[in-house]
Amino acid sequence: MSSDDQQPLSEILQAVSRLEDLATLARQCRRCQLASTRTKVVFGVGNPLTNLMFIGEAPGFHEDQQGLPFVGAAGKLLDELLVSILGKTRQDIYIANVLKCRPPNNRDPFPNEIETCRPWLEKQIELIKPQIICTLGNFSTRVLMGKTVYISKVHGQAFDLRNYLLFPTYHPAAALYTAATKNSLVEDFTTLADLLLKDAKPKPYHENKQLELF
Ligand code: URA
Repeated sequence: MSSDDQQPLSEILQAVSRLEDLATLARQCRRCQLASTRTKVVFGVGNPLTNLMFIGEAPGFHEDQQGLPFVGAAGKLLDELLVSILGKTRQDIYIANVLKCRPPNNRDPFPNEIETCRPWLEKQIELIKPQIICTLGNFSTRVLMGKTVYISKVHGQAFDLRNYLLFPTYHPAAALYTAATKNSLVEDFTTLADLLLKDAKPKPYHENKQLELF
């Protein structure tokens, strides 16, 4: 996105109707300062026809190197929770982040970076149409709820945001070294499993064939 930098991103994205095309555009984005320090844009990965989407904060070192979300230690824990509690793999769900590019030294995202990057995430959600979005940690929960909430207060509860249920839980990185947080994460995933059984209706068969991951 260079010559179109003056036009609001959300307007440009109105014409996009395929997730692959959105990913191609995102990989060219230079709308904030993170473009000059990133190695790869981390767009997202998984099944675009899923009912369930996870949203983290921002790529870290390994994600930036590989161009894939949650491939480090936190990602390993996320994969374990997916398999052991939800009976799912990455091919069943979709994973994305609020920021598509790594903040240097894994610092917290700046507000202007979140705002600049937000249309990519909003369009991802619009195209995937998940029934449940599980936000991982404070950043993504605040972005989707549109207010400053604390994950310690809202985790493990479902919020009806009209187009989808929002289910915040702890960021898996926070659970790596704190047993109590890991226990809460496990409990929340168990609640999420129940929610999926109750509320997430399978999409019609013709929409539900396995697609290539991207
Ligand atoms: N933490 C995140 O929030 N996202 C990633 O992709 C990796 C670590």
